Amino acid sequence: MTATTIVSDRVTQGRGVERLIQGQAVMDGAGVKINRVLTQALQRRLDPFLMLDAFGSDQANDYIAGFPEHPHRGFETVSYMLSGRMRHKDSAGNEGLLTSGGVQWMTAGRGVIHSEMPEQEEGVMEGFQLWLNLPAADKMRQPWYRDFDADQIPEFTTADGVTVRVIAGASHGVAGAVQRDVTLPLYLDVLLPAGTRFEQLLPAGHNAFIYTYRGSVVVDDKAVAAGRMAILANTVGADGVRLQAEEESRVILLAGQPLNEPIAQYGPFVMNSQAEIFQAVEDFRNGKLGEAVVA
Ligand code: FE
Repeated sequence: MTATTIVSDRVTQGRGVERLIQGQAVMDGAGVKINRVLTQALQRRLDPFLMLDAFGSDQANDYIAGFPEHPHRGFETVSYMLSGRMRHKDSAGNEGLLTSGGVQWMTAGRGVIHSEMPEQEEGVMEGFQLWLNLPAADKMRQPWYRDFDADQIPEFTTADGVTVRVIAGASHGVAGAVQRDVTLPLYLDVLLPAGTRFEQLLPAGHNAFIYTYRGSVVVDDKAVAAGRMAILANTVGADGVRLQAEEESRVILLAGQPLNEPIAQYGPFVMNSQAEIFQAVEDFRNGKLGEAVVA
């Protein structure tokens, strides 16, 4: 963990809120209660992001069934655990325990079969799973995987006392745990004490959103309360976003460069065409999707 004091970016013109999204209560895996914040209907608008699920419960029944073996192809999954323990195992031979404050980044590429199972029978399980698309040229690349413990996520505090964890991309000169070409994702977890503000520069063409999970923040005079996502407008001339908190608040902030490629999704497969989806289903049926990668 790095403890550097940094003066916040100066944003000349902040992006506004284009739309507030409440999310949909869904069940996934073997019966895990989730708030699906970024749904399929928003994939075009928030390209290169495909999905964001928020989960949080202190009731074991809401999470204990977990996500038994299932396949993925064509994109990346990023799991960020705020609280709890989840074990991951996959067909490429990776295994890891995701604990509070940790991140697991998996590039499914041509195919991974994995399980994600809670390793606790009581207590709070809270966090996010984000799906980030891969460019067409990388959809069939070899899978990649890495676990980051909480202390491996770079962190800094601004002069105002705002704490920022940099999961991907870079903020205020601090490089995040993961960097990606093409989609150039920025993934920040921002903790704003009461009465503080935080400004983040954002490239003009990148699609961006925030999700508030504690308190409430104001973006360009619009309140974004806990449990709400705000899609940030791609306003011409805007060079970033300004967040302001009257009470202690926590938000995740995401931005990325759109791929502008066709999106074909069937459950856990996200490709560019129906033919590629049929191929993924076929490969899965024939046991070819999660084949161990022979070096
Ligand atoms: Fe999965």
